[in-house]
Amino acid sequence: MATAIVDTGRSGVLDGVVHLAAPGDESTLTPEVRALRRLCLIHAKPYLITAASAVEWIEAERIICGLPPRPLTGSRHRFAHQAIALIAHDAWKPCMVEFVVRHFALLSSFSRRICTGTTGCRLNDLARQQGWSRDEAWATCYESGPMGGDVQIADLVLSGQCQQVIFFHDVRVNHPHEADMLLLERAIAASTAEVVYFSGAAVAYRWAEAAEREVGDRL
Ligand code: PGA
Repeated sequence: MATAIVDTGRSGVLDGVVHLAAPGDESTLTPEVRALRRLCLIHAKPYLITAASAVEWIEAERIICGLPPRPLTGSRHRFAHQAIALIAHDAWKPCMVEFVVRHFALLSSFSRRICTGTTGCRLNDLARQQGWSRDEAWATCYESGPMGGDVQIADLVLSGQCQQVIFFHDVRVNHPHEADMLLLERAIAASTAEVVYFSGAAVAYRWAEAAEREVGDRL
């Protein structure tokens, strides 16, 4: 399956993976699964670990294809009542800045934005340039990733204070806090019905484009 993610142009390649595993399932740590996840990120394909993310991705693809959005059910797209976490590794921070510029209104419609320290600092500077003048900062900054920020965000996910996570993950380099990121993903996977998680820029852009079309005038 990992080979089928590598985009060689031949027929039969996979467009993405939905992998719903129980939180304690150790198979998510096997080389096969880690390679699958890494190659999805390298080849800009979705690797989705919660049911809520799979629903959101399928809906985004339907909308981008021109199909009418399905009626919103449950808490989907009640952004004014939801918090979104935005995290980017160093090599992806410029891309995160571009993503936020492009989708500033959509991201600002969430009740709260949560970031690891350095990402949040960059995004708060950017928000001021975009005209954000409210007393509270655009993003609430937690510790920097290597200092425990990912674990703090995992705690918010587990306590129901964060409903969406967008993580621009750099899989080309090793991270000393890899264990913290795995913990965050485990917390997200444990909230399969409630938390939407996109771990690469390509999928996040498609979600944002579709969400903007869907919520339209309400932004
Ligand atoms: P940073 O952390 O925003 O503080 O750079 C990101 C991370 O490494 O998880």
